[in-house]
Amino acid sequence: MNIDNLPTPYFMIDEGKLINNLEKAKKLKDISGAKLVLALKCFSTFGTFDTIKPYLDGTTSSGPFEVQLGYEEFGGETHAYSVGYSKADIEAVKGMSDKIIFNSLSQLEAHYETCKTNASLGLRINPERSMAGQDLANPTRPYSRLGVKQELLSTAVLDKVEGFMFHMNCENKDADAFIAILDHISTTFGEYLDQLKWLSLGGGIFFTYPEYPIEKLALALKAFSEKHDIQLYLEPGEAIITRTADLVVSVIDIVENEKKTAIVDSATEAHRLDTLIYDEPASVKEASDNGEFPYVIGSCSCLAGDQFCETQFDTPLEIGQKLHLMDSAGYTMVKLNWFNGLKMPSIYYQRVDGTVELLNSFGYQDFKATLGK
Ligand SMILES: *Cc1c(COP(=O)(O)O)cnc(C)c1O
Repeated sequence: MNIDNLPTPYFMIDEGKLINNLEKAKKLKDISGAKLVLALKCFSTFGTFDTIKPYLDGTTSSGPFEVQLGYEEFGGETHAYSVGYSKADIEAVKGMSDKIIFNSLSQLEAHYETCKTNASLGLRINPERSMAGQDLANPTRPYSRLGVKQELLSTAVLDKVEGFMFHMNCENKDADAFIAILDHISTTFGEYLDQLKWLSLGGGIFFTYPEYPIEKLALALKAFSEKHDIQLYLEPGEAIITRTADLVVSVIDIVENEKKTAIVDSATEAHRLDTLIYDEPASVKEASDNGEFPYVIGSCSCLAGDQFCETQFDTPLEIGQKLHLMDSAGYTMVKLNWFNGLKMPSIYYQRVDGTVELLNSFGYQDFKATLGK
């Protein structure tokens, strides 16, 4: 396959970069003794799972279909968590889950009898401390519905659950800040932790970020786990998949209204949603910090403010030219949608031996199927 001629838009996932992240995950596991389960809500492109499986212990989920996907396509330990399970959801997931984690005491009460013999049950706790940059993604924000606060807990809960789950970080690059939360959890919930079998500390720890002190984090986890005699889990999503994929687009048109805008054959609202939701502009591989030719990289959607970024280049852009929007793996392929009836990006996987596999491609019939039969 000649990758220079692939029709855009497409995602290109780089196996070598993925393995670099996974090696860091392995180091963290080896030193800390913690188990790592992949958060499928961040990345579920299962054509890459043969690479990931040898490094991680299983998957965790945010909804029933993710449980099934993890069970079918990844294996290992399947953790089921959801903010709200209906009775039908529990029937669907209970035979596939090693652990089922409830978001509230009322959910635990409602489903305890149905699944107590199927899985090790857990409860999500709101630790009231967090490291999350944006309020939208902060699980301990005021009035949060995510997890049970300490004041509502009593040791009676220990008759029903064997584990707790805390998730309170989002892209936290600061190991000391995480360790401070860990200390807070140890002191505040110590009486529970000493009696539980397992504790998941959620995702959002950016241990694959350059210069992150993996060993420091690992030793803190190890000490915690020894102190409370408990098996720890982490639920990384973004940390596993960060900086492993480009969204490759073509320049379709160039328009000018005081600024030059290069319109590309993709849209943040359809293909890279978090650019818009979190106002985090994309980085373009071909751009240059000191370039003399500035452009808005604009989307092909109808939404006026839909743009990938503003950046500059050493030479003027040309229609037909390809651009690589970097770091487009986490929370992208899982959020693709058909807004505007735009062409959906294909998904390719570049293996370490250089071969390129097509993992998925989409056409008009896929678009139509989301709308009716
Ligand atoms: C989102 C989420 C994760 C994964 O978070 P990342 O920031 O992608 O590591 C893990 N656990 C829970 C409960 C989550 O909601």
